[in-house]
Amino acid sequence: MTHEPDASSLQLAERLHATAAICEVVTTTSLSTSVHEVVLRGPATTLAGAPGSDVMLRFEDEAGRFVRRRYSVRDVDAANDTLTLWLTVDHVGPGSTWVTTAAPGSEIDVIGPRGKIFLDPVADWHLFIGDASGFASFYRLAQSIEVPGRAIFIVEIDAADDALSATFDEGLGVTGIFVDRKGRALSDPAGLLSGLAAFALPPDLGHAYVFGEFHVARVLQSALLDRGLAPEQISHKAFWREGLSNADHGEPVKED
Ligand SMILES: Cc1cc2nc3c(=O)[nH]c(=O)nc-3n(C[C@H](O)[C@H](O)[C@H](O)COP(=O)(O)OP(=O)(O)OC[C@H]3O[C@@H](n4cnc5c(N)ncnc54)[C@H](O)[C@@H]3O)c2cc1C
Repeated sequence: MTHEPDASSLQLAERLHATAAICEVVTTTSLSTSVHEVVLRGPATTLAGAPGSDVMLRFEDEAGRFVRRRYSVRDVDAANDTLTLWLTVDHVGPGSTWVTTAAPGSEIDVIGPRGKIFLDPVADWHLFIGDASGFASFYRLAQSIEVPGRAIFIVEIDAADDALSATFDEGLGVTGIFVDRKGRALSDPAGLLSGLAAFALPPDLGHAYVFGEFHVARVLQSALLDRGLAPEQISHKAFWREGLSNADHGEPVKED
């Protein structure tokens, strides 16, 4: 065990104005068919940043190459110096393989905080729309909404037990719609579009956060514009892309 981040991580963290650290795996737990939780101990509050932030983990893939993957912070526990991540495991990649096999006590190279999407402080309602890869960010962002506020979740899931819940401040208006994928292709936006169409957006000022598959996120962004939201009311980020591994820096490949 090295206890020191790799030199490439230290350099990258410096360039990103972030921190590189070695964290220890405390626990890993299967939460549902598609989502696995990992709790990491390290400089948690430094790495975790504000709600909406993510961290970058460095894994070795099957070919012995090192790749980085990004995961939103689900929770941070300052007293215990731990941070919690929720990773999707319904596919095969270095990240999903790591989280299902990591042993408590093992170490992982982490860079954080990353990300530019935070809670819109002036919005009266917040719409969180996407797939299970967005749960961690959606729930941490929603838990930071000041009451009285409103959180609306429209999340596409593959299995009934993926309808993961969270607890929110009393006084927060919460609406959740889980859309069953029903075997549709991962890049098919039909399910989330119908979930969105079924929901009447409140009349006051809102903000939408769209996280998920590359093509689906793009279509949802235009659907929200069509529903009357201004571009600055939409925070949109592709988290992954059907049929393609994320690039080694952790983002989905953008080129067609
Ligand atoms: C800022 C940011 C925050 C993110 N936060 C989270 C998070 O909190 N939780 C989370 O689970 N993911 C999150 N992601 C997405 C995650 O980084 C990607 O899903 C990543 O591809 C996983 O890496 P991997 O090594 O498991 O699979 P990869 O090697 O990248 O991909 C292998 C195969 O699996 C497919 N695949 C990848 N992800 C998924 C998926 N979610 N569902 C179905 N198929 C998939 C790919 O299309 C590819 O065919 C985030 C991404 C970004 C950019």
